[in-house]
Formats: sequence, C-alpha cells, structure tokens
Amino acid sequence: MEAANKLNIAIVGAGAMGSLFGAYLSTSARVVLVDTWSAHVEAINRQGLTVELPDGDSTVFPLTAMSVADQLKAPVDVAIIFTKSADTMAATQTAQKLLKPNGIVLTLQNGIGNIEVIQQVIDKGRALAGVTTHGATVLGPGKVRHSGSGPTHIARPAQDLPDFEALIHTFGQAGFEITLSDDIGSLIWGKLIINVGINALAAILRVPNGVLAEVEPTQRIMSATVLEAVLVAKALGIDLPDQHPVDRVLYACRNTATNRASMLQDILRGADTEIDVINGAIVRIGEALGIPTPFNRLLTDMVKALENTRSERIQAEDQ
Ligand code: NAD
Repeated sequence: MEAANKLNIAIVGAGAMGSLFGAYLSTSARVVLVDTWSAHVEAINRQGLTVELPDGDSTVFPLTAMSVADQLKAPVDVAIIFTKSADTMAATQTAQKLLKPNGIVLTLQNGIGNIEVIQQVIDKGRALAGVTTHGATVLGPGKVRHSGSGPTHIARPAQDLPDFEALIHTFGQAGFEITLSDDIGSLIWGKLIINVGINALAAILRVPNGVLAEVEPTQRIMSATVLEAVLVAKALGIDLPDQHPVDRVLYACRNTATNRASMLQDILRGADTEIDVINGAIVRIGEALGIPTPFNRLLTDMVKALENTRSERIQAEDQ
C-alpha cells in the first residue's frame, strides 16, 4: 500500500498480543501502541519493540507507544482492543477518543462478552470481533515472544465499512493469514471451547499445554469440561466449527505443546485471570439455561481460589 494510503491503527492494550500484532502491522500500516504500563511504553519509545521467535531469533520494530492519557495529532482509522477482558470498557473508551468518526474497532480477545462491552460505546456496525490462534508472552518492558502462529478469523461486518477491505489487505501484507466469517457466534465459541479445556487446567497444574494431552486424569477432566461447554453452546443454537471438540482441544494442546496458557502466565505473575469470561461464562450461561456445569464450576472456583490465596502460598523453600 502507498505510504499516503496506509491505515492509521492504534493498538489499545499492548501487552503480549497487542505488541505482537502492532509490531507486524507496522510493516504495512502506521501503528501506535497504547498501554497503561509506563515502563513498557518508555522502553518501546527508547529502543523499539523486540519480538523474539521460539528459535531464539529476534527482530526490533521501531514503534511509537503512548500512555492512555496522551493525545494523538491525527485520529486513527482502526483501533484494535487487546487488553484482558476486565479492562475492555476502559480500553474502548480510550479507543473512542483516538478514532476518527466512523472508525473501526476490532477485538481479537478471548472469552465471552468483549464485543458486547465494546458495543455499549461504539456503534454495533463498526465494532468487529475475531479470534486468533497466534500466541505471545511478555518477556519484559519492550520485549515479547511470539510463541505460536496460525490463522486469524474475523467476522465480516453486517454493513458496508469503507476501511474494512483496506484493513484486511493490511493484515495480509503484514503476513497474517486472515479468513472472514459470517458467523461470529461460531468463531467466538469455537475459540472459547479451546480456552475452556486448556486455560484453567494449565493454570491450576502449572504445566505447559502439551502435558495436558498426555496425562490421563487431565484428559478426563478436560473432556468433561469441554463437553459441558458444548452442551451450553448447542442449547444457545451455536454452530460450533469443530465436529469433535474434545479432539480439537487435544490437538490444540499438542500443537502448542511448549506454550504457557495465558491464564497460567497470569497466575505465575500474581495477576487476576480471565476465568470469569471463560469457564465462569459457561457456569453462568449454563445456570440460566438449566444445564449443570459442575466441572466448569469447580475449575472456576479453583482459579478464583488461586487468585485469592496468592499472598498465603507456601513455597518449597518455606518448609
Ligand atoms: P497482557 O496482559 O499481556 O496484555 C494486556 C495489556 O493491556 C497490558 O500490557 C496492560 O498494561 C494493558 N492494559 C490494561 N488496561 C488497559 C487500558 N485501560 N488501556 C490500555 N491498555 C491497558 O494480555 P495478552 O496475553 O496480550 O492478552 C490480551 C487478550 O488477548 C486477552 O483477551 C487474551 O485472552 C487474548 N489472547 C491472548 C493470547 C496469548 O497468547 N497471550 C492468545 C490469544 C488471545
């Protein structure tokens, strides 16, 4: 794309995934990273953003970053929300300030409910959702690891959006494999089912994804948890993308064997998790529909218990 025609994109929430997407998109668009983490913002503005690949190779992307309070000279065409779900409303309010009138907001976050929160602020027609199979981890201020690659699926807008085609073209030019879908429910629930099977178990057991598929008791828990979520999805009339969801989750574990699920990363750094919009969402919706979800409830309570007892945790050296 000609420099003059390049899209202006703001990534609101530039942690692991936002930094990764911002770095690659900066090869085909003008990108600004927006985050509340000042050490990260300062490091990026000082020395660029380093993306490390699993083989250890790394590339530095000269990017601009700003805090949420900073003003932009020109409004952006597109804002991509990449905070954790608890911060979606605050990030959307920032996005609204940065966007041109009729600009697009896109979320590629995990979990249920993000797009609905965004649509409380942004017109439904220009608030888009998608899911991605890329994975990333923050290594420190100004540095992320690109831990897994794969397609990114985006729901086609219901109305004509002038910048949408340019956005898809920009993703493609930056090396992203994009597929468009007319069924947003199928996209979001397809990814949710994978997160339901992997995240809480990985966080509780503190193991990389691959281990979950190799140990029989974890397979049993995973399978029961996923099947509860499938029943809930079916009761909602969701057309799930996979015919064999348990096999799909096992495949995802093996395919990302060395990855640390984001919920595990949150637990390890003492942060709150997205359990409420993953297994917790299955419990809430199941309750409303009269579908029992005991495995999802137990996993939700276990992760919440982990969050709430972190200051009391006994370490091996304390014995
Ligand atoms: P992260 O915690 O690494 O990054 C979130 C960033 O948002 C942080 O840097 C934080 O400082 C920032 N933030 C918080 N509040 C903000 C606000 N109001 N305005 C601007 N920035 C704010 O999280 P992540 O792992 O990048 O995950 C982001 C989303 O993507 C989550 O929904 C996650 O489930 C999803 N996701 C993650 C992965 C992965 O591999 N990490 C893969 C697919 C999807």
